[in-house]
Formats: sequence, C-alpha cells, structure tokens
Amino acid sequence: MSQRIQEKRKVIDCRLFPSEKNCSLAISGTEQEVLTVAVRHAVQEHGHQDSPELRQQLKTLLKDE
Ligand SMILES: [Zn+2]
Repeated sequence: MSQRIQEKRKVIDCRLFPSEKNCSLAISGTEQEVLTVAVRHAVQEHGHQDSPELRQQLKTLLKDE
C-alpha cells in the first residue's frame, strides 16, 4: 500500500489577479490542482496566453488555505 502524502491545500483568489473582469472566483486544492485549473480559467475566461510567465504569475498568488 502506498502512503498518501497529505498535501496542504492552496487557494488562489481571482480578485487578486489583474484583469478587467470583475471575477470573484476562488480555487482551492493542491498546488498542482489549483495551477491547472487557474491556468485554464485565465486562458478561457480572461483571454490570457498559456505561458511559463502566466504560470509563474499565478504561482505568486497561491496562498495557504
Ligand atoms: Zn477569473
């Protein structure tokens, strides 16, 4: 049986992300989950380009839940 590592949940608040939309979305989960969803959200809802810079910017917005 593999031991499951308890990962701390992170939260990203879309209100902290600079955008012209009044977006109040908050995403929480493991860092990997949050980043995956946040990148998709930023691209689909905010028209950002999926790039290493975008991921880096999103990472700086991650907070411990
Ligand atoms: Zn948003």
